[in-house]
Amino acid sequence: MQILKTPEKTYLFLISSLGFLSFTFLMSIPQYSQRDWIIIFAVSIAILLLNYYTVLIPPKGNSLSMDSSIYLASLFLYGLHFTLLVLVIHTIIFAAFQRKIAWWKHVFNFSVYSLMIICAYYAFIFTSGSIGTIQIDNTLPYLICFFTYFTLNLLLVGLYFILAATENIINYFKEIIKETIAPYVSTLVLSLVLVILMKNEELFGLFLFTCISFLLSLAFKQHFNLFKEVAEKANKDFLTGLNNHSYFKEILEKKVTAAKESDQPLSLVILDIDDFKKFNDLYGHIEGDHLLQEFGALLKTECDAANYFVARYGGEEFSIIMPNTNRHTAYSFMNELRKKVNDTYYKGVERLPYGCLSFSSGIAQCEKETYSISELLSKADQAMYAAKNQGKNLVQIYNGHTEYSLQPSHSLENALEELEFQLKIFLSKDVYTYRHSKRVYQYAVDFSRILNLSDHERKTLTLGAIIHDIGKIEIPRDILNKKGKLDPHEWEIMKMHVTWGKDIVSTNKKLEDLIPLVELHHERFDGKGYPYGLAGKSIPKLARILCVIDSFDAMTTERPYQKTKTFQEAILELRNCSGKQFDPQFIEPFIAMVTQLNSTVCEVEQEHVAVNS
Ligand code: GH3
Ligand code: MG
Ligand code: MG
Repeated sequence: MQILKTPEKTYLFLISSLGFLSFTFLMSIPQYSQRDWIIIFAVSIAILLLNYYTVLIPPKGNSLSMDSSIYLASLFLYGLHFTLLVLVIHTIIFAAFQRKIAWWKHVFNFSVYSLMIICAYYAFIFTSGSIGTIQIDNTLPYLICFFTYFTLNLLLVGLYFILAATENIINYFKEIIKETIAPYVSTLVLSLVLVILMKNEELFGLFLFTCISFLLSLAFKQHFNLFKEVAEKANKDFLTGLNNHSYFKEILEKKVTAAKESDQPLSLVILDIDDFKKFNDLYGHIEGDHLLQEFGALLKTECDAANYFVARYGGEEFSIIMPNTNRHTAYSFMNELRKKVNDTYYKGVERLPYGCLSFSSGIAQCEKETYSISELLSKADQAMYAAKNQGKNLVQIYNGHTEYSLQPSHSLENALEELEFQLKIFLSKDVYTYRHSKRVYQYAVDFSRILNLSDHERKTLTLGAIIHDIGKIEIPRDILNKKGKLDPHEWEIMKMHVTWGKDIVSTNKKLEDLIPLVELHHERFDGKGYPYGLAGKSIPKLARILCVIDSFDAMTTERPYQKTKTFQEAILELRNCSGKQFDPQFIEPFIAMVTQLNSTVCEVEQEHVAVNS
């Protein structure tokens, strides 16, 4: 049978049948007077009204309905048949108005209430409770009746949710008892108050009770809305409207605990807008704020759609909590987001280094062993710094085996400073080579970003670029500064700079990765270069890249022994020599890059001259 397919459906069917049968078995309609019928309908309508005007209780907005107070008062005053009749009338009217609710829910509700009312009634009678009066002797029966009503309510409704697996059994009872005990106790007290009111003046008493409940409902609703508004403001960031730092921490703590308990994955992302200070410097803080708002709105849309929790972590940093998401899914999501941000135009971003808005982000997945949220945050943070260090506009997953330095760029900058210092002393006799090395270095920085080189390759290429001509220190001044063509003997000496350079670099163990660049940047792809005549892939990749950059700068700048080429001529030369002198795979990307830079090339050169002179 379709209806018995799952345990919760079987349960629904059983309880509905049991409630319905008990009701049919016990129900009979005595001879009621017209006044009795009026009271029956008045009570039913009061229940309908109070079912609608409930009392909302902060913080979650659980609602307390006074309908149970009326059912209990009706039991104490008029007995079982009267109360069951009220239940039927109420259910019929309610179902007629709430046709959108599935019919089986109406039936189940009716059956549960029938069972609660019937059992509570017999509990009252068996403990010698007397119907129709209100007296102190009835205290124990009142309590037992009420306890039966309350327990059945919890069990009958709770079992459904437990069978449907939307609730954990222990959690359910812990939560529900904590939250409902106070409302249920007030239900009992209110039902007795109603009994007293109705004992003297049935209709007027009921009217007064309903009015008070209605007014209470309105007052609590206002109170609850105010609470919600204030709570929301306390959790939001003023500028972007996203969740704020402290609320983020609160939620992270909860989600991490839940993820560990349920053994579900959870990923945490920290992201930081790239070069935002530059944007502020270019356009001012007000425009900067505006960009943060727009970026925040995009983040919110994307994260809401994926059911992720996003917050402004501080400044131009944001954080995302991704429940039920492992690091790989998080990586795909963040990469998609990164592309979307790159492709979205925001006013002014064309002057940022990537020509678009970009961010760097780090991902850390919560593990069973993760002992605190600060550990998780620190991992995501370290991965984010690694992304920054690898050239920005990147997503990086925290890798437990990699030790990320907190300021990874530090060592590169130190090494650069050290090298440049040495180079300045060595090449003070040859200003041309010093300036050439600095330009080649700048090209190497830009080009390594475009080629998506690894962190290590990027570092090696840029340091190699600055030091590649160090061997020229050994070349006599008259050859270095000779105007006009070098004779063959002089040319042989000139070519020695790669070998002498290698000798100099080899004396420093820290620089050994740079040796191939210093020694092999004059090798040619077709094998006709020096010093060894290596060809194709037997020349290390970074040396092949440096050869392109080095030659392009040599062609386009003034040299004592050769004529300078124009930008267009140099590009033509690169293309002509592609596959001969140069590895073809790097030619078009390099041309695309320098063409883009061309408009600023002159400015950059002037700047270099100004700095160096
Ligand atoms: P990086 O790519 O390394 O992250 O560089 P960056 O310039 O983005 O980072 P840095 O930490 O050097 O500078 C962050 C800047 O963000 C500095 C600060 O003026 C700016 N900023 C932080 N909060 C706000 C804000 O609320 N409004 C505006 N307009 N700027 C902010
Ligand atoms: Mg920052
Ligand atoms: Mg930044």
